Amino acid sequence: MSFPHLLPTYARADVAFTHGEGAYLFDEDGRKYLDFGAGVAVNVLGHAHPHLIAALTEQAGKIWHTSNLYRVPGQETLARRLIEATFADTVFFTNSGVEAIEAAIKTARRYHFANGAPERFRIVTFEGAFHGRTLAAIAAGGQKKYLEGFGPKVEGFDQVPFGDARALAEAITDATGALLIEPIQGEGGLRPVPPEFLRHMRQLCDERGMLLIFDEIQTGIGRTGKLFAHEWAGVTPDIMAIAKGIGGGFPLGACLATADAAKGMTTGTHGTTFGGNPLAMAVGNAVLDVVLKPEFLEHVQRVGNYARQQFASLIADYPDVFEDLRGEGLMLGLKMRVPNTEFIDGLRAHGMLAITAGDNVIRLLPPLIIDESHVREAMEKLSAAAAQL
Ligand SMILES: *Cc1c(COP(=O)(O)O)cnc(C)c1O
Repeated sequence: MSFPHLLPTYARADVAFTHGEGAYLFDEDGRKYLDFGAGVAVNVLGHAHPHLIAALTEQAGKIWHTSNLYRVPGQETLARRLIEATFADTVFFTNSGVEAIEAAIKTARRYHFANGAPERFRIVTFEGAFHGRTLAAIAAGGQKKYLEGFGPKVEGFDQVPFGDARALAEAITDATGALLIEPIQGEGGLRPVPPEFLRHMRQLCDERGMLLIFDEIQTGIGRTGKLFAHEWAGVTPDIMAIAKGIGGGFPLGACLATADAAKGMTTGTHGTTFGGNPLAMAVGNAVLDVVLKPEFLEHVQRVGNYARQQFASLIADYPDVFEDLRGEGLMLGLKMRVPNTEFIDGLRAHGMLAITAGDNVIRLLPPLIIDESHVREAMEKLSAAAAQL
């Protein structure tokens, strides 16, 4: 009996893409797809963006990897630019989102250790959260389907119902060192945290000497029409994990922190071989060249508003198929009345890609470079897929 050569942890769709251009992907049979998944909110500048290709290939001809035993000038540049654009004073580069979360958790625990309070290692998280797939991240996410069979849950995470201020107050003890939240739950079903709840969390953290950690791995890098989603609420975290969009398709993440929050992360306390390698830095800097232009975020807001209006009309047109529209900017979700997996398959047959999420939602996460014409094309395909049901 043969076992799959690829460990069968994914229920993959039977399609492989050979190339892409802007908001489109092309498969092995030459079929064209409108890509409203963007590799799970990763390809913020779409596929084969000339500026990213130039940055990566230019760097590829110079040096690929040196390790973090030496200075990496691209890290210094990218860190400075992220710091100038955010609350942060310091940055640690990783290869993925979950490594950025791990760095965030470790930074928070070391902060209290450095303060002489190592017992404050506990972190409160929220039901429906997704923070990645390492042992610590599945404990933080708290979802049974990801924890089952993987041995004892990593100690130190207390989960409360989404948006429940009273449960949050009750969960906080003298051992609580931090609160961790996604400003909009992505995989949990596109659930935005009300801005006043984020402000309430900031206040609790200030009062109780806790650190506020935002997971902006999916919501960051312009996805919601601000560089980071928490800007809509007018609060800043002490620590933030980012990834996905910052690499534009190249594996890259980062943990950002204030100088105070990062004070425990001294020489030798953390490390990575690949994180922040010159190829990733070249691409990350090239992504920021585009995303940090003032007109870029205005563009995301304008197209996001248009998309919201358009997609909302689907609910009126197909009330048996669509129930609700959620999200912000170009991070939109349609809650379905039919199984989301079935709808996604039908949509793909009509030449459009979207992504499932929890709570029977389909996520629409297009490249941020789309314009109104792509939204109209998406409307046609969503309508056609709905009409066929
Ligand atoms: C994708 C994601 C992660 C995990 O990132 P990986 O790069 O897959 O490790 C963590 N948190 C959120 C909110 C995400 O969307």
